[in-house]
Amino acid sequence: MALDRNPAPNDLSAFWMPFTANRQFKQAPRMFVAAEGMHYTTDDGRQVLDGTAGLWCCNAGHRRPKIVEAIQAQAAELDYAPAFQMGHPKAFELASAVRDMAPEPFEHVFFTNSGSESVETALKIALAYHRARGEGQRTRLIGRERGYHGVNFGGISVGGIVNNRKVFGTLLNGVDHLPATHLTENAMTRGQPEHGAHLADELERICALHGGETIAAVIVEPMAGSTGVLLPPKGYLERLREICTRHGILLIFDEVITGFGRLGSSFAAEHFGVMPDLITCAKGLTNGVIPMGAVLATGQIHDAFMTGPEHMIELFHGYTYSGNPIASAAGLATLETYREEGLFQRAADLAPYWEDALHSLADCRHVVELRNMGLIGAIELEPIAGAPTKRAFSAFLDAYDKGCLIRTTGDIIALSPPLIIEKPHVDQLVGTLRDVLNALD
Ligand code: PMP
Repeated sequence: MALDRNPAPNDLSAFWMPFTANRQFKQAPRMFVAAEGMHYTTDDGRQVLDGTAGLWCCNAGHRRPKIVEAIQAQAAELDYAPAFQMGHPKAFELASAVRDMAPEPFEHVFFTNSGSESVETALKIALAYHRARGEGQRTRLIGRERGYHGVNFGGISVGGIVNNRKVFGTLLNGVDHLPATHLTENAMTRGQPEHGAHLADELERICALHGGETIAAVIVEPMAGSTGVLLPPKGYLERLREICTRHGILLIFDEVITGFGRLGSSFAAEHFGVMPDLITCAKGLTNGVIPMGAVLATGQIHDAFMTGPEHMIELFHGYTYSGNPIASAAGLATLETYREEGLFQRAADLAPYWEDALHSLADCRHVVELRNMGLIGAIELEPIAGAPTKRAFSAFLDAYDKGCLIRTTGDIIALSPPLIIEKPHVDQLVGTLRDVLNALD
């Protein structure tokens, strides 16, 4: 290895990029070199309006001074401390701050470094919880079609995205899936769809098939983000909760996207008024600035582990960087920013404007469905016959050239701007999309 060699700045060959068409990207790279507030700056000096909060994570917008300063100060004071049998104050402070922001039954916070790790952690806590209570036969996990729960083995097993699963072998045993909460009869609904609560009844069928007493947990995104903003129909989550409770099954909400204000309240659980037993989060926890995730557990779940001898480790699980000091400092500054600026309420207040703007695209070319809630939205396009994903990806490239960052999944455009967005930004985003959609083949 040539340790003395500086790599050429324009050498793109070494970085094997995640979830990217690498060969195509490297022929025509799109690079951001700076960011501030609602905008990215490209390497050729253009401003791009952030319509996706990075990857659904920069809820307070970019390069927020309070967060930058907190990270700098923490790095200069305590850079790293082990989290096993040792502690440091910032992690405890952040856990309390997350608990205080969460709905009431959530009293304990387990730190991870990503959404994927939060999912693995929650699934493991669910399995170990049942075993701790003498119900070790509960080993089955139930996910949902079109669910995204990160990329680790547990997450892709309970997840329901074919491309994320099919080349990786047999995955976890004992997993079943509910149907996705997507019905075309809800196509142009504003906010929460009317039809589809009955889709939760599939859980009864799965319980009848396997025996409800063999199921450890059901994991769902209260609102599925990554597969195109699929909203829970009215009554659906309530029904899921009721069936889980009746069969002694834990309900996990994966709130990696919906956590920290996206729907106008701290967590979707609060927004929908349905309480799961475990919540996973990440992304908005640190405004996306430093990798960090968390699992929120109710007192009941946590306390089931606290029954053995006091010198024994209660849960054999954790990460080298769980509660990392710099990530904790970033998290504290992020939550303070959300609170001081009332950003969750701001999202709720702006939601009607956002909804109207988004639904003004109903008559654009190729639009077959529009979905929205809080500050999130989706525009579903008619796919090109024989070339799925192509139409939406063309829209992504054109929007980028026209100065807006959007995200696509299949033939769906997903939008989730930072919660600091102003009405003129909404107008710019939607105006650009109108031009982009009407110019599409
Ligand atoms: N769960 C959900 C609901 C997500 O949206 C994501 C990321 N988009 C993840 C888990 C995985 O998070 P990460 O990429 O941080 O591992």
